[in-house]
Parts: sequence; structure tokens; C-alpha cells
Amino acid sequence: MLEELQEVDQLIDTLKGTLAGLQAEMVGINQGVETAREELTLLETTLSQREAEKKELETTHAAELENIVRSETNMKEIKTNKEFQAVGREITAARKQVGDLEEQLLQKIGAIDELTGEITTKKSQLDELVENTSQRLQEKQGEISHIQADIDTETGRREGVVKTMPASLVKKFTILREQRRGQALAIARDGYCMGCNMHLPPQLYNNLYKNEELLACPHCQRILILKLQPK
Ligand SMILES: [Zn+2]
Repeated sequence: MLEELQEVDQLIDTLKGTLAGLQAEMVGINQGVETAREELTLLETTLSQREAEKKELETTHAAELENIVRSETNMKEIKTNKEFQAVGREITAARKQVGDLEEQLLQKIGAIDELTGEITTKKSQLDELVENTSQRLQEKQGEISHIQADIDTETGRREGVVKTMPASLVKKFTILREQRRGQALAIARDGYCMGCNMHLPPQLYNNLYKNEELLACPHCQRILILKLQPK
């Protein structure tokens, strides 16, 4: 009974470990998609910033062009040479400004084109990832359900085993298992405890043959199970 309990407990532990691993994988898969989505959002935010900046440049550009036209119209009504020169300087400065703005606009358009390309690539990558991911998530979910069903089955089996055992023994076994890294039982063979590899007192070893009571290893406290033949 104790051996079966140990076996079922170890099986449950292994299954739970597998389950935790699968759940961690699912978290990882979801995080991958989340990261790709955040990257795309960042690119889109940058694009709208660049577009707003482009719009502002266009507005300034249009205003400067208007200024030039106005100055040129005004020139026709100018009487003095001094005034003529002043307006001429204004127009030259405005034309230089227009040139600078056009240069900046070209750069902005280049940056926008580049960003748009990046966004297109990123979007198709994300679509692919989402499709890929949903398949993988479904697979993982299937595996998880499978493992969970196994855990339920084994838990049922454990309950069955426990029912046939004295409650005090189950308690002792459970505490020992927690203290001894999952191994509450140890095989006794050739006068040794296989749990801690220590020599057992001869009297205790002899008593094991009598099979009258549960005996524990005096060194590691595990419950001893006598096995004459090597496994
Ligand atoms: Zn021992």
C-alpha cells in the first residue's frame, strides 16, 4: 500500500511538473504576441507624430509662400528705394525659409515612407504570429487538458489507496515525504538503507524479516521496505 501510495504520489508530482511547464509555455507564447503588438503600436504612434509634424511644416510652408506673394504685390506700390530694398531682403529671407522647409518636408516624407514600410512588415509578421500562436496555444491547451485528466485519475487512485490505510500512517507518510524530498520510503537491502546508503543496525535489519511492524531507518527516518532481490 505504501509503495503504491509512493508511486502514485510521484506520478502526480511529475504530472504537476509537466502541467506547470505547459502553463509557463503558454504564458511565454502569449507574451511573444503581446510584445509584437506593443512594437507595432509604438511604430504607429511614431507615424502619427511624423504625420502631424509634416502637416505643421506644410502649413508653415504655405504661409511663407503667401508672404512672398504679398511682398511681391506690395513691391509694386513702393515709392522709395530704401523701402524697395527692405522688402527685397524680406522676400530673399522668405525664399530661403521656403527652401529650408521644403528640405525638411522631403526628409519627413522619407521618414514616413520608411515607417509605413516597417508597419506593413510588422503587421504581416504579427498576423502570421497570431495564426501560428493560436495553433500552438490550442495544442498546448489540449496537452494541458490531457495532463489534467491524468492528474484527476491519479488523484482518484490515491484516494482509493489512502482509504485502505490507517489515517496516522498516511499522515506520517505525507510528512516524511515532504521532509525527504518526495521519498518517504527506502528499500532495505544487504543490511543497508538505500535511501541514505547507511548501514542498518543488524537487529533492526533482522526485525524487517519478521514483517511485524513498520520500521524506519535510524539515519534518514524513511520507512523501510525489505527487498531481497535487486530490482
Ligand atoms: Zn536511511
